[in-house]
Amino acid sequence: MPAQIIDGNALSRQIRAEVAQRAAALTARGTRPGLAVVLVGEDPASQVYVRNKVKACEESGLHSVLERYPATLSEAELLERIDALNLDPAIHGILVQMPLPRHINPHRVIEAISTRKDVDGYSTLSAGELMTQLPGFRPCTPYGCMKLIESTGFDLRGKHAVVIGRSNTVGKPMALLLLQANATVTVCHSATPDLGLHTRQADVVVAAAGRRDMLTADMVKPGALVIDVGINRNDAGKLCGDVDFAGVSQVAGWITPVPGGVGPMTIAMLLVNTVEAAERAAR
Ligand code: NDP
Repeated sequence: MPAQIIDGNALSRQIRAEVAQRAAALTARGTRPGLAVVLVGEDPASQVYVRNKVKACEESGLHSVLERYPATLSEAELLERIDALNLDPAIHGILVQMPLPRHINPHRVIEAISTRKDVDGYSTLSAGELMTQLPGFRPCTPYGCMKLIESTGFDLRGKHAVVIGRSNTVGKPMALLLLQANATVTVCHSATPDLGLHTRQADVVVAAAGRRDMLTADMVKPGALVIDVGINRNDAGKLCGDVDFAGVSQVAGWITPVPGGVGPMTIAMLLVNTVEAAERAAR
């Protein structure tokens, strides 16, 4: 039987409607949640991402500010802007779109964002909070993947989850979230000699390598839950993930499509983190 499709568009709509209700309640009490999105340079993909984030804020009743700067902006000038946003009471979340121009150190910039406003969850403090299970902001993409898994009713306790990819923003936080949900977790990366050896034993596979068709049907255990984080283009220029969807969907129990799976959830969880930041500020 073909896999059930986990519909990220539908789930993200539901989450965004809940965010809109929370935002309206807060606004009625005098605090409208606000997100600042900072874009430095002219990267075309980044321009699309930031536009989508700002649009999503507006649709859920959040206040949003898009600050665009030329690629010539100095690191000191950017840090000054972040300091100002840290102090701005109308702003509860700050997101600096990556990648930054090469002359700007992204770590210094991320660390300059107040932890109370780090809605991307990228700072070392937020990473530490995740690691030690303290309340804090979880990185939006893995947080969204967890919501997709939860939406199926799949119980992760005691299951074997394999994460492909170990980046600080996707793979590593994903592994920690799965571990917190009591899965037994294996993390694979580019030096893993036989990826299929691991994925064939997995009840859950999260593919986050950025390599198209990396996970094929012969690498998946029948009935497994497959989350495809990857964003790639196929030969026809169309968006595709890391998973060979046509093949794997014949073997897996559940699968996320690309587009329409993890992507819309990433934005939804950014809104969740922003409204959460505003709720905390209003307490
Ligand atoms: P990175 O390039 O930072 O990390 C990729 C990871 O995959 C690395 O850990 C790398 O290993 C590993 N990897 C690469 N090739 C292989 C391979 N052949 N076998 C096993 N592991 C491999 O990417 P990100 O984590 O930022 O993103 C991953 C993908 O997810 C990208 O396609 C990105 O576009 C997409 N993405 C999608 C989002 C969404 O909203 N849908 C949001 C964020 C990312 P090593 O560490 O050894 O180099």
